[in-house]
Amino acid sequence: MQLKPGWNFHNSYATLPPIFYTQLNPTPVAFPKLVVFNESLAEELNLNSDALQTEEGVATFAGNKIPEGAEPLAQAYAGHQFGYFTMLGDGRAILLGEHVNTQNQRFDIQLKGSGRTPYSRGGDGRAALGPMLREYIISEAMHALGIPTTRSLAVITTGETVIREQLLPGAILTRVASSHIRVGTFEFARKFGSKEDLQALCDYTIERHYPHLAKEKNPYLQLLKEVIEKQAALIAKWQLVGFVHGVMNTDNMTVSGETIDYGPCAFMDLYHPETVFSSIDTYGRYAYGNQPKIGGWNLARFAEALIPLLDENKEKAVRLAKEAIETYPDLYVFYYLDGMRKKLGLLNEEAEDEALIQDLLQLMETYKQDYTNTFRALTLQKFEEPFFQTPEFQDWYQRYQARLKRQNSIDIMQMMKQHNPSVIPRNHRVEEAIEAAVERGDFTVMKKLLSIITNPYAYSAEQEEYCTLPEYPDEPYITYCGT
Ligand code: AMP
Ligand code: MG
Ligand code: MG
Repeated sequence: MQLKPGWNFHNSYATLPPIFYTQLNPTPVAFPKLVVFNESLAEELNLNSDALQTEEGVATFAGNKIPEGAEPLAQAYAGHQFGYFTMLGDGRAILLGEHVNTQNQRFDIQLKGSGRTPYSRGGDGRAALGPMLREYIISEAMHALGIPTTRSLAVITTGETVIREQLLPGAILTRVASSHIRVGTFEFARKFGSKEDLQALCDYTIERHYPHLAKEKNPYLQLLKEVIEKQAALIAKWQLVGFVHGVMNTDNMTVSGETIDYGPCAFMDLYHPETVFSSIDTYGRYAYGNQPKIGGWNLARFAEALIPLLDENKEKAVRLAKEAIETYPDLYVFYYLDGMRKKLGLLNEEAEDEALIQDLLQLMETYKQDYTNTFRALTLQKFEEPFFQTPEFQDWYQRYQARLKRQNSIDIMQMMKQHNPSVIPRNHRVEEAIEAAVERGDFTVMKKLLSIITNPYAYSAEQEEYCTLPEYPDEPYITYCGT
């Protein structure tokens, strides 16, 4: 009997006005080979892992075979890149369609690296293996950390090379997302579509992601408010684990509140607010410490795009947009402090908590301490680094202990373990895994890394060796995007 993969496509995006997409198939590749496959995600999607790993299943991940029910398309969108408005769109990705699982959850199934589209501009529509493995590793790590994110179902190699600064093996990532609707999709509608197009996109987004808003008196204003809150919560989560996205352009910000587009992203080792990894982020626009502010900037672009729908009266519409945007900083701080209190085991709120947190971060910065490991040490009460013996830290620690004594429970280790990962995908480990795969065709290093970082709160003995810093932690780590 032939195994059925279990795809259950119901494609709603293709019901939007035609300006929002171009229907086309992926461009077939020469010799598809499955190199990474996510069994547990396949299970969540109610897909049959065995069927997906057959030649026919793999052909689907390569774009060589269109699965039953799929209606492939490339999405149109625009966006502000490093502050400048540009027309964009899926230049190297194809949405196969939306798969609906037995719990009636809807997932975009997207092939990234699947060939040229009308939105490719000068690009080749392809992706190299290294960056696709990187997206797989980091997105799955983020998911395990409890951070909303797109996910990765599979990576195939294409048997073709892509030309960058050198010849590289080509690959396609199968990306799974609650949707790929971006702030930039709304900017596209506002700039290039009619008011009806914009409204159709809003209604669609509400139905898909915020169905409870449909009955609101002003659903579009509520949509703006909910997206602002979702993003405030998301970016707070990034800050709490030391994640640097690297390209927070408005086309890389979803309205579902999922992290998307893992290009030059990386986790910070030594705490410093100016941490930047991306080779193209010369001015640190997207530095770690700037992310919350940039989130607000991006959301203001979202608000601007929605203005025609917020009120008949233009001035009132602008005022409503402004008022909504002004709630963002406090929402962000609320989520950030809430998360920080949990990291420190603080069960209630005190006015001085913010200073206590700030002072700890300042000490980490001054003494060049590792962000994750400092919280790990506080969680385990294991203070081996010389930093912990400094009078400044000792002073801080006394304040912290006094603060803990003023709350009911001081048995906080379990709670802290749930909020402070003992492992993150450290850059040198990610590089090591990608290098083994790309240079030597050895995927075991990546598989081991995945098994460790997809269990970040386990505090298991086998994780110990993944907690150590690179040999030269001060050396700048540089990441590249769009390759
Ligand atoms: P990103 O930096 O990944 O967010 O991509 C920004 C834009 O460039 C998107 O419209 C991508 O689809 C497009 N793009 C990136 N790489 C390529 C490529 N190799 N070929 C065509 N389009 C690309
Ligand atoms: Mg992008
Ligand atoms: Mg991209």
